[in-house]
Amino acid sequence: MPIYEYTCRSCGENFDQLRNVNDLDSDVECPKCQKKNASRKMSLTAAARELLQQLTASSSCSGRRYG
Ligand SMILES: [Zn+2]
Repeated sequence: MPIYEYTCRSCGENFDQLRNVNDLDSDVECPKCQKKNASRKMSLTAAARELLQQLTASSSCSGRRYG
């Protein structure tokens, strides 16, 4: 099982969780405040992918016509 990094939105705690891929979207409990309000940190690959999307989006935007 892969380990994912989470950040608690309530207290700002960063923690690692072993997560099954199928359970990625289920709630993760913060070990510090026990609130299920954590967000998964973006991985480097996901960040790079988003950067690429921004680049392709801006280039495709120039070819767009109005009306
Ligand atoms: Zn917390």
